[in-house]
Amino acid sequence: MDHVTQEKRSWLMSRVSSKNTKPEIAVRRLLHSLGYRFRIHYKSLRGTPDIVFTKRKKIVFIHGCFWHGHDGCRYAKLPASRTAFWAEKMARNRERDQQVYEALERQGWKLMIVWQCELKRKDELIEKLVKFLGMPKA
Ligand SMILES: [Zn+2]
Repeated sequence: MDHVTQEKRSWLMSRVSSKNTKPEIAVRRLLHSLGYRFRIHYKSLRGTPDIVFTKRKKIVFIHGCFWHGHDGCRYAKLPASRTAFWAEKMARNRERDQQVYEALERQGWKLMIVWQCELKRKDELIEKLVKFLGMPKA
């Protein structure tokens, strides 16, 4: 893709990171099949959280490892070209995430981040989700 201009590349990448990304749908399906009920893309909260449990006052964010800069994750490796550009972009994303978390926590919400790579170990992910959310209603 090296012949693509920076502008075009940014545009392409911005499409990739849009809503209803695959990991997000996978987590939604998983939660649904476990029997949880939730709201999605909840606009009345800062950062339009992906999955919101209004009664439990809990929020689950699904983050792509690259875009949100998953620490130490092999999927968050920076591209070999224009590395500084991507590093800066990721740092900005992370900073923005942090601001969103803090604002939500101040309002009394409990947060959990599901990283894209965690979907590879579904059993562990389920355990983590149930621990965070409490058991779904039978
Ligand atoms: Zn990851």
